[in-house]
Amino acid sequence: MNRVLVPLELEGSAPLLGACMQVVSGETMGTTWQVRWLRSDTRSEDALRAVIQQELDLVVAQMSTWLPGSTLAGFNRAPRGSWHVLPEPFAEVLDAAVWMANVSGGAFNPAAGALVNLWGFGPSPRYTDPEFRMPDDEAVQATLAHIDWRELRWDASLRRAHQPGGVRLDLSAIAKGHAVDRVTHRLSRMGIHHALVEVGGELRGQGYGVGGQPWWVDLEPPPALEGASPLACTRVALHGLCVATSGDYRRAFAQAGAHWPHTIDPRDGRPVRHGLASVSVLHQDCMWADAWSTALTVLGPDAGLALAVEHRIAALLVRRESHGRLIETLTPAMEALAG
Ligand code: ADP
Ligand code: MG
Repeated sequence: MNRVLVPLELEGSAPLLGACMQVVSGETMGTTWQVRWLRSDTRSEDALRAVIQQELDLVVAQMSTWLPGSTLAGFNRAPRGSWHVLPEPFAEVLDAAVWMANVSGGAFNPAAGALVNLWGFGPSPRYTDPEFRMPDDEAVQATLAHIDWRELRWDASLRRAHQPGGVRLDLSAIAKGHAVDRVTHRLSRMGIHHALVEVGGELRGQGYGVGGQPWWVDLEPPPALEGASPLACTRVALHGLCVATSGDYRRAFAQAGAHWPHTIDPRDGRPVRHGLASVSVLHQDCMWADAWSTALTVLGPDAGLALAVEHRIAALLVRRESHGRLIETLTPAMEALAG
């Protein structure tokens, strides 16, 4: 049977009945973005596309690991002992990331850039390069010495962070969600209150879609192994709600007889391997949905579930059992949305 998740509260704005839906899309952060909105005026698509791209470009200019000229890349290259006052969006995201790191005991770690890169998921070397080889124990151990987020000595009130030497920030697990929030807020300031914003699979729905319906979104189920029965469809009404999904099957490589996904457990320095196929988190803010989905993925089916329950996070965890069987677990906050 299919599952339908609906928010517990309705937003204030009334649906725009009879309005047409517009769609604009583009590329950012090594992935794609798409915005659907209901049109009640004659605003041009090109103008809206440019405004959205501007917001996304700002996130990239500040927080990209890939752009050598980004504020984050500058921090990563900075000399030992230097202090850096960060621009506001960067500071907001780092503040959330440091909170997530503290709460998850370092399972989520914004300072794990060196480790991410070592495993081929940073700028270079890439796991897709034909000559790429997974790192040995020695390299992993040496890199673990440079990923302590507490050494950033992050001071939110002054927006300043300390570079202890060799620490490389990586905000890729949270920046896409933040970008979705930024775009939504920008649209709202422009008077667009009915929109579905997506960046790289992280989504936020505001107001209503066509015909006064909420923005219905189906969660992508992890692929079932041959012979195993696929999961039922989970359909969410994104009305003042966001969803982010982390999965072990999209960015990953196979080597030495194992499957190595792009989410790394900074506590042992290796890609996660505890059988969670995917984690979806619903939250009012996409930045938090994004951060939580990665944090729970690293923590795994037991510790992740426990932390999500403790913090009343609406999460759907899918784990792989033997013979490829997929088992779903919903936190109580998620169950509540299922009615
Ligand atoms: P997913 O959609 O699978 O959660 P994200 O794009 O949100 O993927 O996050 C994955 C990226 O986050 C990785 O490519 C890496 O840059 C970074 N990352 C990997 N492991 C961690 C971690 N433990 N904590 C924070 N960021 C991480
Ligand atoms: Mg994430």
